[in-house]
Amino acid sequence: MKILVTGGLGFIGSHTVVELQNAGHEVVIIDNLSNSSEDVLNGIFAITGILPSFENIDLRDKNLVVDFFKRHSDIQNIIHFAASKAVGESVANPLLYYENNIASLIYILQELEKKTASNFIFSSSCTVYGQAETMPITENTPIQPALSPYGNTKQIGEEIITDVAKISSISAILLRYFNPIGAHPSMNIGELPSGVPQNLVPFITQTGMGIRKELLVYGDDYPTPDGTCIRDYIHVVDLAKAHVIAMERLINKKNLDKVEIFNLGTGKGSSVLDVITSFEKVSGQKLPYKIVDRREGDVTTTYANTDKAKTVLGWQTESSIEESVASAWKWELKVRKA
Ligand code: NAD
Repeated sequence: MKILVTGGLGFIGSHTVVELQNAGHEVVIIDNLSNSSEDVLNGIFAITGILPSFENIDLRDKNLVVDFFKRHSDIQNIIHFAASKAVGESVANPLLYYENNIASLIYILQELEKKTASNFIFSSSCTVYGQAETMPITENTPIQPALSPYGNTKQIGEEIITDVAKISSISAILLRYFNPIGAHPSMNIGELPSGVPQNLVPFITQTGMGIRKELLVYGDDYPTPDGTCIRDYIHVVDLAKAHVIAMERLINKKNLDKVEIFNLGTGKGSSVLDVITSFEKVSGQKLPYKIVDRREGDVTTTYANTDKAKTVLGWQTESSIEESVASAWKWELKVRKA
């Protein structure tokens, strides 16, 4: 089937394009290259032997979105990754986030609403749960008030999709990712953060390379076994595979509701110090780090209950935290040598 992947040259999008092509689907990518590069197409080609069709379109331009769907009137399957994702930047510049993450979503849904049938997968996030009261987090764990404009765009995005699906022929799956890390085993694609990495693992690998002086660990007095925050780190290839399963579920009309929600995580929490230990083991080197005060906005612990994804989608992760960190480190070494 033909599938539009917005943000398909980004970190999770590019890995998903590979898995879609490997499963025999035809992919059309829209990306404005705001956080990616056209070189990623070569990486996808090197892995799959197929060059996906690519259009450099900024989804904030409604006219360009309308024109795209006019030219591709047969497209009815969409995986929507395109968004801005830096929490700190969203606090500093909320309107940029509301425009990019919400306006773009509305323009796409306005086109889909006109169709007799369409399938939509949305990149949501575990940030919608905030600091949940009980662990692990299930899909029924209550949503908490968003801690940042970025988190709010994911909550609002979910609500918009749910409202539109009720009155249209759009069927949707909302995928709430935990913390994606790692790279494709071929090392042809991986994460390419611009500027100072916002996420722990790219910061660790860059520190391991000597690009960053040291890692700052924000707080070791949290109520966790070693005092540092706990997250659920999922290998990006495992995450990408879930998108193929979710899209095929919609295409084959196996969905039980107009809008379904799934947590995508490993079900295991790792503390910041656990991740550092994994890095030191796989790299064979000590990581320079310093414990500093807690950072505002960090929740203590989040990890997923993955029962629903396992039983309903028949999906579960394959990679351990060590394998995921090893692949992120291998990718860092490759990128820096290139
Ligand atoms: P990414 O920045 O690597 O990929 C996003 C892609 O979208 C980039 O290639 C960017 O150029 C493109 N893009 C952004 N705005 C666009 C626009 N207006 N028009 C066209 N293209 C545009 O990010 P990612 O890590 O691959 O994340 C993908 C999605 O998953 C995002 O929606 C993000 O919010 C969500 N998510 C990511 C994480 C994470 O930790 N990486 C966690 C939870 C949810």
